Amino acid sequence: MPPTERVVTRTCPLCEATCGLRITLRANGDATRAVKVAGDPGDVFSKGFICPKGAALGALHHDPDRLTRPRIREGDAWREVGWDEAFAYIDAKLRPILADGDRDALAAYAGNPNVHTLAGMIYGPALRRSLGTRNLYSASTVDQMPRHVASGWMYGDPDRIPVPDLDRTDLLYIFGANPAVSNGSLATAPDWPGRIRAIRERGGRVVVFDPRRTATAGLADAHHAIRPGTDAALMLSMARVLFEAGRVGLGRLADITKGVDAIRGVICGGPGDFAPERIGPVCGIAPDDIRRLALDLADAPRAAVYGRIGTQAARFGTLAAWTVDLLGLLTGHLDTPGGAMFPRALHERPVHGRGRGFRVGRRHGRVAGDPEVRGELPAVRLADEITTPGPGRIRALFVVAGNPVLSVPGGDRLDAALAQLELMVAVDPYLNATTRRAHVILPPPGPLHRPHYDLAFYTLSVRDVARFSPPALPWAGPSEAGILARLTLLVLGMGPKADPALVEQQIVGHLLGKAAADPASPAHGRDPRAMAAQLRGESGPERVLDALIRTGPRGEGFGADPDGWTLARLAAAPGGVDFGPLAPRLPASLATPDGLIDAFPDAIRGDLPRLRAWLADPPDGLLLIGRRHLRSNNSWLHNVPKLARGRDRFTLRIHPADAAARGVADGAAVRLSARSDAEAAVQATAQVTDEVMRGVVSLPHGWGHAVEGSGLSVASKVGGPNVNRVTQPVVDPLSGNAALNGVPVEVRPIG
Ligand code: SF4
Repeated sequence: MPPTERVVTRTCPLCEATCGLRITLRANGDATRAVKVAGDPGDVFSKGFICPKGAALGALHHDPDRLTRPRIREGDAWREVGWDEAFAYIDAKLRPILADGDRDALAAYAGNPNVHTLAGMIYGPALRRSLGTRNLYSASTVDQMPRHVASGWMYGDPDRIPVPDLDRTDLLYIFGANPAVSNGSLATAPDWPGRIRAIRERGGRVVVFDPRRTATAGLADAHHAIRPGTDAALMLSMARVLFEAGRVGLGRLADITKGVDAIRGVICGGPGDFAPERIGPVCGIAPDDIRRLALDLADAPRAAVYGRIGTQAARFGTLAAWTVDLLGLLTGHLDTPGGAMFPRALHERPVHGRGRGFRVGRRHGRVAGDPEVRGELPAVRLADEITTPGPGRIRALFVVAGNPVLSVPGGDRLDAALAQLELMVAVDPYLNATTRRAHVILPPPGPLHRPHYDLAFYTLSVRDVARFSPPALPWAGPSEAGILARLTLLVLGMGPKADPALVEQQIVGHLLGKAAADPASPAHGRDPRAMAAQLRGESGPERVLDALIRTGPRGEGFGADPDGWTLARLAAAPGGVDFGPLAPRLPASLATPDGLIDAFPDAIRGDLPRLRAWLADPPDGLLLIGRRHLRSNNSWLHNVPKLARGRDRFTLRIHPADAAARGVADGAAVRLSARSDAEAAVQATAQVTDEVMRGVVSLPHGWGHAVEGSGLSVASKVGGPNVNRVTQPVVDPLSGNAALNGVPVEVRPIG
């Protein structure tokens, strides 16, 4: 039979932009391969946009290094086994640990890809809950936890995150983000470059604040080089300008906001503190520019402030996330068209206008005493919690789609700590720097084998949209949901033969039970069992998604609204459904106990003295920041040849004056070390460029794959320095997030 071809549409699962793809599948005998991936012009959101990562989805799916069968480590060797043997092996290793009765001996680390799969979002939390441990970790604390914490304190819900209304704004301030290459984060929008150009074409302005003249800065009207770690101070200085100029106006939010007068009292109390003359020299921006930037924000009819990883994965990450929203609030742009707005996802849970509010610190880390935040402890503490003796020491670790040896500060220490575990289970398709330490690797199916719907990113989308993609290719092995369900049952002590369907029943029962009891749900008062019987879908994740959509704000409510949405109705629209631009949502979607926006939460107020102390004696010398590349996404795409190659992928960028002062030539080998620990060092190649401001060096994260025992044939040859040997376990105390940016370092030539 000659080969046959068919085209399927599906949403790209590789980054937060959620572009629609058209994938050409060629069947040749028993094998079907994705031979072409293009942007889908019929997609309601991306309208044909695609980036090089999306175009490589087929290569990623068919990567010959991808594991397809479980494997057990025996010494330094791996043995492929069947699924039943793998789960029986885990059960046997787990039982003595469970028998000791110390649930804190169990731990889990979830990597970033979890938020890109339905199973990771639905079954991952079930596994984590079932562990019954305080030792839960994830990539969130090396990424965006400050944003959640700021939202939690201000709006009562850590997932209530305002996004810039890119398509209607006249003025966009971007702090510490490079969406022209990252394609956006915590603000889902395909084709950020096109949307930025559109702002300028309609007469608007875009201003970038970044220590580096990024690709995004190249698209903007203005770029302000800002010293790392000073974003919160700069924005507070702008807030002070607004107060002193009498330009604070909250608009319709004035009646539902508390704390504004208290902020005025704190930041306008005297001539020092956040006055532009004082803050300007620290952050590197002229005082007159600070005043003009603040007043421009107040003058603009529609303006949005957006801040991301450069500001949040930093020492004052939560303060920075708070000040981003504060500027929008004080200038009347929060929750208004063209400002920063709150999406309304198809699967969203009912909102009530008030709630129980946000809490942290219900448990604390054993070694460093950090409070839990969203149920998690800081990822930088994982190594210490494994190696420090005593009750509660981690003995068994489940790593799901994560590579913390490369992603978390102190990667070497963590690598050594993993070797002390009695059991490490990795759910991962690759043998990489982290999973090589596992006792068992359980590979999930590839991206084209899975159903897809972006539970995380439709809550962050700059338009209210939704798309569902069924699996593009069949898969005979266990699904990702099935793997996570079986692990859940093992840690509950139910053994390797327990039926994974029990986990789906538990998830569905809980979800529908809450919906039935909630007067704000369209399914209020209905029988959960009868509702469960109506769910449709080919797999557990799909049926849970059906339940979420039916009980969501536009759902059919199991008969309550015959015109409402179900998964089947969404699936019938392969290019997706556009529900339109974002609409104002406050106060209805607040979850604070008093139903008010808290403009000046106590936790924030309590952290300001730390910022003041730092401003009084800011670090001099070189500060390290990260960097993104269009063909990279953390550590997990470096085994695809066309995404891994290219010039300058992991050079250390350094300003000419800083290079000259250290005798560093362009292209020379250099040693980059932490100033607080000279042993924490890597070798890199210098790239001398005035793209970075003076006093700043930039090295991307996610590299360092050349480790013994890696099964990544492409990435391990490419290698690269693991920047997390240099970054230190310093956290933003409000969120537990690692301070990956603004790390004091030194650079010297080698040889
Ligand atoms: S921008 Fe993101 S979602 Fe869009 S094609 Fe690229 S990787 Fe995929």
